[in-house]
Amino acid sequence: MTTETRVARRARLMGPNVPTFYAEPVHLVRGLGAEVWDAGGRGYIDCYNNVPHVGHCHPRVVDAMARQSALLNTHTRYLHDGVLEYIEALTARLGHGISQAIMVCTGSEANDIALRMAQAVTGKTGIIATDNTYHGNTSAVSVLSTRRPPIGGYPAHVRLVPAPEALHVPDGGVRFAADVARAIAELKAAGHGFSGLMLCPYFANEGFPVMAPGFLGETALVVKAAGGLLIADEVQPGFGRLGSHFWGHDWIGIAPDVVTVGKPMANGYPVGAVLARPDVMAAFRAAFGYFNTFGGNPVAAAAALAVLQVIDDEGLVENAALVGAHCLERMAALRHPLLADVRGKGLFFGAEFVLDAEMTPASAFVTELVERMKGKGILMGKIGRHGNILKMRPPMVMSVAQADRVMDALEAVLAETPMP
Ligand code: PMP
Repeated sequence: MTTETRVARRARLMGPNVPTFYAEPVHLVRGLGAEVWDAGGRGYIDCYNNVPHVGHCHPRVVDAMARQSALLNTHTRYLHDGVLEYIEALTARLGHGISQAIMVCTGSEANDIALRMAQAVTGKTGIIATDNTYHGNTSAVSVLSTRRPPIGGYPAHVRLVPAPEALHVPDGGVRFAADVARAIAELKAAGHGFSGLMLCPYFANEGFPVMAPGFLGETALVVKAAGGLLIADEVQPGFGRLGSHFWGHDWIGIAPDVVTVGKPMANGYPVGAVLARPDVMAAFRAAFGYFNTFGGNPVAAAAALAVLQVIDDEGLVENAALVGAHCLERMAALRHPLLADVRGKGLFFGAEFVLDAEMTPASAFVTELVERMKGKGILMGKIGRHGNILKMRPPMVMSVAQADRVMDALEAVLAETPMP
């Protein structure tokens, strides 16, 4: 079957407008470590995927899932030690009094619950997020996401504050905190009250702007003084990706009331969780109970536990620090007239391109770079309000040698791509 036929078949079976990467979508059939192969046998370094966190098809995760699948898979209405062992292992890595979890299947579900936790604790509905984010696809969280505006407009209990942008706000978070304070006042004045602020502590979907630890200090004070919950969406920076810390919120230096996790948790098996202090959990359980048929099932728990063990046993947080620093060093040596900034932490990094001194985003140019990188066997993404930031977020097992192949390709592509 040709790519064209396959694309047509997808449209026939899945409907129109199903997102794919690349002008000619890639048809992957196999993966191992930080590499994947297409149906024609062509290999790529996967610089995009944070889901296969410990590497595509890691044998220990595959084995843990296979064994548990062959033994039993049920749900949390029956007693099973797997989910308990996992929650113990996961919460042992969290501070701030967070010691309990609800297991779910996606980051969207986790954030959906986090919103209801904030409502249960405060008795209010007003919620704040940034104006260039994505927190998931349920009805409740999709209205915090600015990729597609909701039909009928944004609900009145939602306030979206301007996202920090790397090239524009080197102010240490002062403006962001003031914007949050203003949004809280508006929500209170409108009668919704304030339940919480949800944000990614690395502002991953916003384009991971340059921030130093402390950036959110004033914001956290504002949120807590107003009685709201601080919800850290760790779907992207969590599980050691930033190299220096296991969690984005510990790197930036805030104490969240609720932490949500997903994507990298179980290396591709659909697992997410909401982590909270016992007082927050008690308020939620009293208001809503909650059951999730697939969340925390024995296979999910086995896969997720194996991921934590591999992170430790293979020193993957240290690897993220080492390989990430190497990539950043190589990117800092790149010279190109449109290159405005290179930045990142651990294995989450990128480069921002602009057309002129007015900082006009070089969006089409970055799209072209991503396409040409694919041509050189490297998969990566783009991010930011204008899609002018290259986004690299490879599996945590990427080696220095693989990183060098990525950087060599980037150097070549920058030299070859015509200027707009
Ligand atoms: N939060 C953030 C920050 C995300 O980037 C995403 C997905 N890209 C989600 C939540 C939603 O996760 P899922 O797709 O697993 O529902």
